[in-house]
Amino acid sequence: PREWRLASRPTGWPTPENFELAESDVPELAEGQIRVRNEVLSVDPYMRGRMSAAKSYAAPYAVGEAMTGGAVGIVEESRAEGFKPGDHVLHALGWREVAVVEAKHARKVDVDAAPASAYLGVLGMTGLTAYAGLKRIADLKEGDVVFVSGAAGAVGGAVGQIAKALGASKVIGSAGSPEKVRHLTEDLGFDAAFSYRERKVSEALRELAPDGIDVYFDNVGGDHLEAAIGSLRLNGRIAVCGMISVYNDTEPAPGPRNLARLIQTRGRIQGFLVGDHYDLAGEYAERAAQWLADGSLSLRETTVDGFENAVDAFLGVLRGDNTGKMVVRL
Ligand code: NDP
Repeated sequence: PREWRLASRPTGWPTPENFELAESDVPELAEGQIRVRNEVLSVDPYMRGRMSAAKSYAAPYAVGEAMTGGAVGIVEESRAEGFKPGDHVLHALGWREVAVVEAKHARKVDVDAAPASAYLGVLGMTGLTAYAGLKRIADLKEGDVVFVSGAAGAVGGAVGQIAKALGASKVIGSAGSPEKVRHLTEDLGFDAAFSYRERKVSEALRELAPDGIDVYFDNVGGDHLEAAIGSLRLNGRIAVCGMISVYNDTEPAPGPRNLARLIQTRGRIQGFLVGDHYDLAGEYAERAAQWLADGSLSLRETTVDGFENAVDAFLGVLRGDNTGKMVVRL
């Protein structure tokens, strides 16, 4: 079987040369381990951070070694209690065709209830990010006007739909193309949406939310953040989930120039990591299943076929090739 390794660390935008497709060894199983044939792999923006040496919340990938990430696969052999061949599991040894996994770091998933890829997206990490960010960090209340950037992506699409399901009065999204904007209003139930490539974010917000916004869910940073601060209402909340517009920068980006507005609005900005909120996973799984069943949450994904195309899929997430969660199907 094969695995993707980090060949070198990028400066600025990563390129295919930063990765190497290599043959992997599959060791004999030790007690407590399972051998998994991966079926779907997750590619996520945070992996860009892990390609750099700088210390962050997730450890850097080591040069010359296989990368890791979320994956769902089928158990081929088990030396762990509670796991048998044929079970599907979610685990963290993606970026390879076959993984030897400590069973205690794997979780069984029901692929009859939802497709395997859903456990990487709307029923997995990105869905929980949306839910935790809205509930805990943004303190979403009924009647709130919500703005979310990266709205046609995995987290952003879930944010808009969950905000509506939780009683937001208006949900506005921004994304990078007219097709994505149409997807937001026509498929995902956003009240309004615009392309940040075609309009200044501050102008679009003034027009679409003339009375301002209560919540901004930030996936992008940069101009989006400054514009959201400019439109913040009294007691507004900003949940900083990601800032993808700066991930490939080689110099620190300028900060918002209007932070003083936080004083008059009594506004709050708070960053968060989904990893701190897994205590909400059970509650979220229950509600998400219900929302999926009643149609308030829909499952849009972009699928790239073939293990050899995993790097292209990952670079595609950074470029915006995806609508909904980007997954690689083996
Ligand atoms: P997405 O599915 O949203 O994919 C990334 C999207 O970002 C692309 O599709 C692209 O869409 C958009 N994008 C790329 N560059 C820019 C730019 N310069 N300006 C505006 N948009 C851009 O990924 P995820 O849903 O997985 O992640 C979304 C965000 O959430 C990321 O910032 C990520 O780091 C963060 N995150 C944070 C977590 C946490 O625990 N805090 C957990 C999970 C994710 P478009 O065509 O619209 O440009």
